[in-house]
Amino acid sequence: MPDASHSLPHHLDVVIVGAGLAGLYAIHRLRKLGLKVRAYEAGSGIGGTWFWNRYPGARCDVESLEYSYSFDDALQQEWKWPERYGTQPEILKYINHVADRFDLRRDVQLNTRIKSAVFDTKANEWTVKTDTGEEIRARYCVMAAGNLSTPRVPDFKGLQGFKGKWYHSGLWPHEGVDFSGLRVGVIGTGSSGVQMIPLIAEQARHLTVFQRTANFSLPARNTPMPEDKERTHKAEYPARREAAKETPFAIAGYPKPARSALEVAEAERNAAYEAKWQEGGSISYLYAYTDLLVNKASNDTASEFVRNKIRGIVTDQKTAELLAPKDHPIGTKRLCLDTNYYETYNRPNVSLVDVRSDPIDTVTETGLKLKSGAAFELDAIVFATGFDAMTGALNEIDVRTTDGEVLREHWAGGPLTYLGLMVAGLPNMFIVTGPGSPGVKTQMIASIEQHVDWIADAIDYLGQHQLDRIEPSPQAESAWVDHVNKVADSTLYPLANSWYMGANIPGKPRVFMPYVGGFDRYKKQCDAVAAKGYEGFTLSRHETVAA
Ligand code: FAD
Ligand code: NAP
Repeated sequence: MPDASHSLPHHLDVVIVGAGLAGLYAIHRLRKLGLKVRAYEAGSGIGGTWFWNRYPGARCDVESLEYSYSFDDALQQEWKWPERYGTQPEILKYINHVADRFDLRRDVQLNTRIKSAVFDTKANEWTVKTDTGEEIRARYCVMAAGNLSTPRVPDFKGLQGFKGKWYHSGLWPHEGVDFSGLRVGVIGTGSSGVQMIPLIAEQARHLTVFQRTANFSLPARNTPMPEDKERTHKAEYPARREAAKETPFAIAGYPKPARSALEVAEAERNAAYEAKWQEGGSISYLYAYTDLLVNKASNDTASEFVRNKIRGIVTDQKTAELLAPKDHPIGTKRLCLDTNYYETYNRPNVSLVDVRSDPIDTVTETGLKLKSGAAFELDAIVFATGFDAMTGALNEIDVRTTDGEVLREHWAGGPLTYLGLMVAGLPNMFIVTGPGSPGVKTQMIASIEQHVDWIADAIDYLGQHQLDRIEPSPQAESAWVDHVNKVADSTLYPLANSWYMGANIPGKPRVFMPYVGGFDRYKKQCDAVAAKGYEGFTLSRHETVAA
């Protein structure tokens, strides 16, 4: 439990918000610089995403040999992933192993939510307050609060009066849920819904899926880890990790496409898509041709191939058409990976309800009612309705300076950052994989390591040069935001109503938030900025004014 027994503030060099993969690596990396650091975590355990999302079927959609830390070769050589894609319990076990192996726990405080962070421009330090009444002062603040860490339950009338049980994918009970014999409703068909639906269907008496937007999903083709694959991959690990840095998604091993989808005859193209479909995984599919994410006509060929697969798998053609996405190009919303997702709709105990044409209106005492009045009797409701992504966690913290700069106001029209790493007017506050960075469009652990390394190098640089304050200029911030928008506008991404756009939250500004120029291009820009003495940032030495 947090120690709130004394009133004196803790003094740190760096306060870290969050103890997921980002917060933990930040502890490790910053401690190596001799800095006094501590991470504050709202949860009762470490692991972030992998601590909270315990729903049936939760696992990574990037292969585990890739989706893991690269900072320590002995760690990546010794850890054994039992399957191609790690399950949530396996990934959480790995994170706990890392915490023990590198003695990270002594600098983590659990069960502690950061409520406010105020930068005193005169004292040149952050004061961070917790929900337990503690006060922490630190020169630097690292926000490692996550992009998908603010679960969102839609504001349906009547939820409080529901007599059954309800759950959100991102707040899943630790003891698990037994759906045996129950009439279950799942709302949402993003990655979380697509992973849980086949497993809940196996348990429930009846499962009703409430779908607003059909999503594209590809087979994961999960398998036990083939020994030879593991051996080869591990032998090549250092080279693979380096090669990953030269790719857009920070994942090596996929041959760079050379041709447009439109340069290839239909039969050849469909054979290529078929091979990727059989191989499993999303990167491979989207990397089939050079232009699937930038040319609508090219994308149509890849989208139609998957729609035809759905029509082939799902027996009832009315259901198949509902499941076949037609409102966005494939890949412009997060492409799902599944095991038996479409097949599940052939089960007699599963039905699909279109809540686009007839939206959910009310949660009744015994189920759900749609606008038309159609009612569904349910014993349990599962919200796989996603997150207030990318900005939710930071906007929940009252971040401001004593000079009156307020993060929520600065971001009122959508998030503004320089390199996704810092915000103008908020000195010495770093964000890991923030809006404006490519983080969520990559193998995220690679981005987390790259961001934290950049932050650590910046803090080290300041120390080496007897400086103690860094902040981006408003011009650099606005040029970066323009660049992020321009790159997004040159792709098909803005055509989808996705969480990348804030479109899943009513009233949230519609701004495309991630940088989709690629990890490789982004890293080069970050490196160049640092090499030029942190171009676009103002670095200074602050004379502390005695109170
Ligand atoms: P998080 O893991 O979200 O950790 C942030 C932590 O900060 C949380 O524990 C939260 O409780 C804490 N926190 C937030 N606000 C506060 C506060 N005010 N005070 C104290 N603590 C706070 N990415 C991939 O690349 N591949 C995948 O296969 C993949 N699968 C995913 C599956 C699911 C179900 C989800 C939701 C996401 C997935 N992601 C995946 C993205 C995933 O979020 C990242 O890969 C990674 O785990 C993020 O780590 P993080 O430390 O940055 O953030
Ligand atoms: P999501 O992708 O945002 O999906 C939420 C779903 O809920 C969507 O289908 C959405 O419909 C629906 N929804 C939201 N509000 C609704 C309402 N009022 N009525 C009806 N439907 C509603 O969330 P998620 O599935 O949790 O995934 C979020 C991200 O986490 C993913 O994109 C991915 O990056 C990551 N993730 C990864 C994995 C993995 O495979 N490793 C698993 C889970 C999550 P609309 O589309 O119409 O908004």
